[in-house]
Amino acid sequence: MSPTVDPAVRSEIAGVVGARYVFDRDEEKRAYSYDASLIRARPDLVCVPGSAEEVAAVVRVAHRHRVPFVARGAGTGIAGGSIPIEGGIVIALTRLNRILEVNIPDRYAVVEPGVVNLDLTRRVENEGYCYRPDPSSQKVCTIGGNVASNAGGPHCLAYGVTSNHILGMEVVLPDGSITEIGAPHLEPGGYDLTGLFTGSEGTLGIATKIICRLSRSSEAVRTMLASYDRMEDAAAAVEAIIAAGVIPAALEMMDREIIRAVEAAVGAGYPVDAEAVLLIEIEGPRDGLNESSDVIKSLCLDQGAREFRTAQSEEERQKLWKGRKGALGAVARIKPMYYLHDGVVPRTRLLWVMKKIAATAAQHRLTIVNVFHAGDGNLHPFILFDPADADEVRRVHLAGEEILRACVECGGTLSGEHGIGIEKNEMMGWIFSEQDLETMRRVRSAIDPAGVANPKKVLPSGARCGELSRSPGSAPAGAWI
Ligand SMILES: Cc1cc2nc3c(=O)[nH]c(=O)nc-3n(C[C@H](O)[C@H](O)[C@H](O)COP(=O)(O)OP(=O)(O)OC[C@H]3O[C@@H](n4cnc5c(N)ncnc54)[C@H](O)[C@@H]3O)c2cc1C
Repeated sequence: MSPTVDPAVRSEIAGVVGARYVFDRDEEKRAYSYDASLIRARPDLVCVPGSAEEVAAVVRVAHRHRVPFVARGAGTGIAGGSIPIEGGIVIALTRLNRILEVNIPDRYAVVEPGVVNLDLTRRVENEGYCYRPDPSSQKVCTIGGNVASNAGGPHCLAYGVTSNHILGMEVVLPDGSITEIGAPHLEPGGYDLTGLFTGSEGTLGIATKIICRLSRSSEAVRTMLASYDRMEDAAAAVEAIIAAGVIPAALEMMDREIIRAVEAAVGAGYPVDAEAVLLIEIEGPRDGLNESSDVIKSLCLDQGAREFRTAQSEEERQKLWKGRKGALGAVARIKPMYYLHDGVVPRTRLLWVMKKIAATAAQHRLTIVNVFHAGDGNLHPFILFDPADADEVRRVHLAGEEILRACVECGGTLSGEHGIGIEKNEMMGWIFSEQDLETMRRVRSAIDPAGVANPKKVLPSGARCGELSRSPGSAPAGAWI
């Protein structure tokens, strides 16, 4: 049996959202007990409000009864952010899925948080506009979840992550009051609360309306594939391209195991005998593209590319991207489960960290495959395992921690886009001093003194700075696979 919520709380919430949008049967709660991370914990109750006012009223009930609540978008997060680690109420935002306003002359759109990322671009593309942040999960993940995790994506190399594309929000604060922050125009004045809320992973409240910046779609786009016999050469090419001052819209790297898995899964046309491929996309005015692609081609060949090709049609281009965007699903062909990390390193340390990852895999007798945003130095090592093998699971957690430690040691950080959630909160002392963390705690408790908004996420639970509150490779609070 999973826990249950006080009947008074249940009936108050049913009174707000309607009984048909309240779920507390075991099988229903199970559906909200996981995301794309390895952490699992069941809520006491799930509700699916239909408006911002209903969200606020539910939060007021939670606050009054001191019951924790957790906002949930599509549940595609990879850091356990939407997992109700302390039980309580999951507030699912999937019914708040309307695009409320599109203002092309002023280049913004106002959306509800449950709008799926790609749907916003689809809505404005015929008018020559787009919403830039493009997580690989963009066909399903929500803009509310993107804002809360400050999501990135392949094209964030040129355009920046979600925080660069959010102008303002309506937020339900942890006591159930509603506030508006930011504005559709630039420089609204006062504190930059939009910046504060973006990336706060549901710990400062729930976004119920979001003002998104719209960008002009590029006039032309060109997608190229460079393949290498040595990972070292591919990494050197990444460095050379960025050093030359040509910033592609996207610069992605895949290693041999991923290439093979992707080919078997979707047939993207990648060379299965290559050690590494780079997927490079440039966009902009049609006239400048030839010059940029010539520079990129010669830099890739200089670094030993054995093949360099350019997609000749939109269909071919989509095929190349289908491989990259389908990589997460494709790894299931190698092992039933993966533990995905999201460390960041300075681009000049890419090769060093790739070697470190290979050594970690060998030391712990694990398969680790890599597909990542190389241009940003944002790694995505997938540690593959069989959840039925307890010893392998233990080694997976050890290896994950060692890889993140290596990223931090070489001047990088814990997350490029997936957030901290419950997965990496105890590691925050590796990158922040105790004083830094205390400042963050003070901000959080000023906004949520009762500690009801997504507790135990993002900030460490109180271990001494730089220490883990658990032994390496063991489970944090909640159940890990
Ligand atoms: C196949 C796959 C590919 C992916 N590719 C990328 C990628 O390229 N780049 C990237 O950045 N991520 C990627 N992700 C991770 C994930 O899709 C993103 O983190 C995404 O932003 C999560 O959105 P969601 O709607 O699923 O949010 P959820 O997982 O439901 O929630 C994520 C966090 O946001 C909070 N939250 C949700 N809605 C709100 C709200 N309205 N107000 C306040 N807090 C809220 C939750 O409490 C939680 O802390 C990928 C995931 C998968 C499975």
